[in-house]
Amino acid sequence: MLTIDDLDVAGRRVLVRADFNVPLEDSGDGTRVITDDGRIRAALPTIESLRSRGARVVLVAHLGRPKGEPKPELSLVPIAARLSELLGVPVSFATDVTGTSAAAVVAGLGDGGVALLENVRFDSRETSKDPGERGALAAELASFADLFVSDGFGVVHREQASVTDVARLLPHAAGRLVLAEVEVFRKVLTDPERPYAVVLGGSKVSDKLGVIENLLGSVDRLLIGGGMCFTFLAAMGHEVGSSLLEVDQIETVKGLIASASAKRVELVLPIDVVVAQAFSADALHKIVASDCIEPGWMGLDIGPNTRALFASRLADARTVVWNGPMGVFEMPPYAEGTRAIAVAITEVDGLTVVGGGDSAAAVRLLGIDESGFTHISTGGGASLEFLEGRTLPGIAVLED
Ligand code: ADP
Ligand code: MG
Repeated sequence: MLTIDDLDVAGRRVLVRADFNVPLEDSGDGTRVITDDGRIRAALPTIESLRSRGARVVLVAHLGRPKGEPKPELSLVPIAARLSELLGVPVSFATDVTGTSAAAVVAGLGDGGVALLENVRFDSRETSKDPGERGALAAELASFADLFVSDGFGVVHREQASVTDVARLLPHAAGRLVLAEVEVFRKVLTDPERPYAVVLGGSKVSDKLGVIENLLGSVDRLLIGGGMCFTFLAAMGHEVGSSLLEVDQIETVKGLIASASAKRVELVLPIDVVVAQAFSADALHKIVASDCIEPGWMGLDIGPNTRALFASRLADARTVVWNGPMGVFEMPPYAEGTRAIAVAITEVDGLTVVGGGDSAAAVRLLGIDESGFTHISTGGGASLEFLEGRTLPGIAVLED
């Protein structure tokens, strides 16, 4: 896989696929404000390196799911403004993806200049299942550039025009972010220092079961909290009340529990949980043993004994991967589990990786020192597919 350092970029047009899919909020007066610019910041090393070497940088990115047509609320205008502030230089904005505005903006770029095209998913061909349609959009994008750089780690698990098809049409390389992400996940996957512990939580239970399957072949300890743990507790025969439960996954989970024991993986489940009478910050809540959840109560966080147990199973680990919050951290009464585990991971002496969009958001929301982790991934889905051992099309294409 070539990197941007291998490319001779001076005076050349470089199309960069970035991931600017950031959370936005309405400010009340109709304007959209970025609530977490982490993904924009993560793209800066690549853009700055290309600019400083005299490249003409053309950025292509998406925001949300506009379903193939322009939606004003998903315009990249606020991204261009923020990017310009962070770079300290003007960013020319094209009001279309590959139309007359894009062509004019690209033609107007000088050496070291930066342009951003409008949300690429405003064009339905971007995510089309038809390779011919995707190829046509990719060809239009490729006509704006001499080189392609892939730096949107959050989309490398997708077969999409601006991710894979365009890489087949232009000389290409991995950007700094993609390279850093791939290096960390390859290390974890192929050569983790031991003990190697993985902490899983969050709410996307069925999405994450495939990952567990693959992880059981390599991890020493698997700690499960968040909404995920209730399907495990149910599989062990415990009552889980109104907690998040994927009934149709119980049999699969029973298989995973048996497989963990056969492979001598230490499976650590909550021993106590914070239960509430409703999914609300001001609902009545209390701490109960994890095998004593009563009907009508829902588990919204791991309990204090579990926080201590999990921390003790992380303390001497040399590799830790964490994906998925331990509780509903967005509501203060259920944030302590996530806080405790995040802090415990920052104290680990070894390689520590945070994957998952909500886990990274929790780190920032709870004010935990980001420098305490080796790596905070920008790609939730992509990092999970990596850990599942799958080939990511957007990475494979860079290796050709
Ligand atoms: P990530 O983006 O880090 O992969 P997920 O998207 O799987 O994580 O899940 C994040 C969500 O899980 C958060 O919004 C959090 O509120 C929710 N969550 C965590 N624990 C529970 C729980 N016990 N019950 C319901 N939702 C939970
Ligand atoms: Mg999420």
